[in-house]
Amino acid sequence: MKIGFIGLGNMGAPMALNLVKAGHAVTGFDTAAPMPEGVTAAADAAAAASGADVVITMLPNGAILRAVAAEVIPAMEPGAVLCDCSTVDVDSARAVAEIAEAAGKAALDAPVSGGVGGAAAGTLTFMVGGPDAAFATVKPLFDIMGQKAVHCGGAGAGQSAKICNNMILGVTMIATCEAFALADKLGLDRARMFDVVSTSSGQSWSMTTYCPAPGVGPTSPADNGYKPGFAAELMLKDLRLSQQAADSADADTPMGQLATELYRSFVEDEDGKGRDFSAMLPRFETRRRG
Ligand code: NAD
Repeated sequence: MKIGFIGLGNMGAPMALNLVKAGHAVTGFDTAAPMPEGVTAAADAAAAASGADVVITMLPNGAILRAVAAEVIPAMEPGAVLCDCSTVDVDSARAVAEIAEAAGKAALDAPVSGGVGGAAAGTLTFMVGGPDAAFATVKPLFDIMGQKAVHCGGAGAGQSAKICNNMILGVTMIATCEAFALADKLGLDRARMFDVVSTSSGQSWSMTTYCPAPGVGPTSPADNGYKPGFAAELMLKDLRLSQQAADSADADTPMGQLATELYRSFVEDEDGKGRDFSAMLPRFETRRRG
């Protein structure tokens, strides 16, 4: 396939590289990042999109996506698919889909989980919103860049799935960390705490797979000085998107709201920036009630 790839940063570059390795012709554009080997450089976003069967974007946020989409959609061939893999707000994903549809082109919102490691290994999970035919067109590319692609529904469904999942993750990580900190103060051994909770009703991915306590459970960023992993500021971004969506949909999400405020203060007022999101545990260790 002829693929246009816009946004070749930490995630986009390894994803594009996997498409090149699989034999696809990739033309790329980025305002700052260098082109990965094998990707043909275009002069601008519209040039990267022109003549492509699929245009993939991997950009920082919804405002940038909207601006790039306005530029590339008119340059795309009729029937070509714009596939945005960035994590952006649901409203931007839906707005881009509407503009594409009005121009006789299709758009998918296809955010990923798996991080930079998953992008390099080609093991991302794609959560996808948009029309069936567009999903079928891009599916072979999802299979190269990832290990799983779930078609979640119409426009915006991929972003909705991603932020709901990450809202649960933020909340359960905080709950797991505060419970470890309480257990410490009660004199409970962390390994015993893990043994009980990981096989009891308090278990979650945050406890069993990504345990925030060093030396306990499977290896996780806690065993590496809380080097990310999944950085606290990226969790904050996703939590903010969940609250933006909750505002827009008039949904009551008190736990998501509190998790957003805790990660905001951890990242902006404390030492959370650049640390893994599970570093909430050392944060709680140093705190007292009230
Ligand atoms: P990044 O900042 O490394 O990459 C974004 C790239 O977009 C940069 O190279 C930047 O120069 C480029 N860019 C910005 N404006 C542009 C424009 N107008 N035209 C062309 N290029 C432009 O970020 P990243 O870590 O690669 O993340 C990309 C997206 O993936 C984000 O939405 C992020 O939330 C999401 N995501 C990241 C991770 C992760 O672990 N890094 C995991 C899951 C999802």
